[in-house]
Amino acid sequence: MRSISNPIAELRNRVSLAAQSAGRTPDAVRLIGASKTQSPQAIARVADDGVADFGENYVNEALPKIAALNDRKLVWHFIGAIQSNKTAEIARHFQWVHTMDRLKIAQRLSRQRSASMEPLDVLIQINIDAEPTKAGIAPEALAEFATQLLPLPRLRLRGLMAIPKPTSEARRQADAFIRLRALFDAAHPAGGPHWDTLSMGMSSDFEIAIREGATMIRIGTALFGPRGARADV
Ligand SMILES: *Cc1c(COP(=O)(O)O)cnc(C)c1O
Repeated sequence: MRSISNPIAELRNRVSLAAQSAGRTPDAVRLIGASKTQSPQAIARVADDGVADFGENYVNEALPKIAALNDRKLVWHFIGAIQSNKTAEIARHFQWVHTMDRLKIAQRLSRQRSASMEPLDVLIQINIDAEPTKAGIAPEALAEFATQLLPLPRLRLRGLMAIPKPTSEARRQADAFIRLRALFDAAHPAGGPHWDTLSMGMSSDFEIAIREGATMIRIGTALFGPRGARADV
């Protein structure tokens, strides 16, 4: 066993410990490999170790990687800013979108999602720290936005995602996750019948996020090592 030097084994171990210390089962936390800038080979190595879900931020970068890894049956999550001229590709190649914050985009994705595929699983992005430059809707806008998304036939509304403002203070970090969790809980049953997913936590804060109820964590550097340049440019 070389598990000490294997970052994936070490990461899974940390996920398990964080889940157990919060009284949760490790299976309740789904690990999404944030694979921007990583090559298909690097993604394949992580997939060999049992990670089935990967998140990409840029459609142009993602498409050749998805094609190269097509035979592996991976699940692709779109976790970047959505441009309206890219929605057709997202509807066609991804199973999840974590960054929904505009009705126009949601309507396009629903229209473009093929009837032969599962509905597209969608998370609403919340701008949890009210940062002017950050994507996501305000917490107060959630109820109305969810009401607008629910009737879209080819989308399946699943829950919330946020990227809190970075801070080195553990208590402030936990606070953002606690507020997101409260918002998530309060949206039952308004979020509809599939409301079950809370995407929060990255390499620097996933243990806190798990303690506060994350069901998906998006992990880049702690899984792949440091990022280089984008893979397609
Ligand atoms: C890059 C990225 C991550 C992962 O970041 P790390 O700090 O490398 O774990 C998670 N979520 C989103 C939206 C990202 O763009």
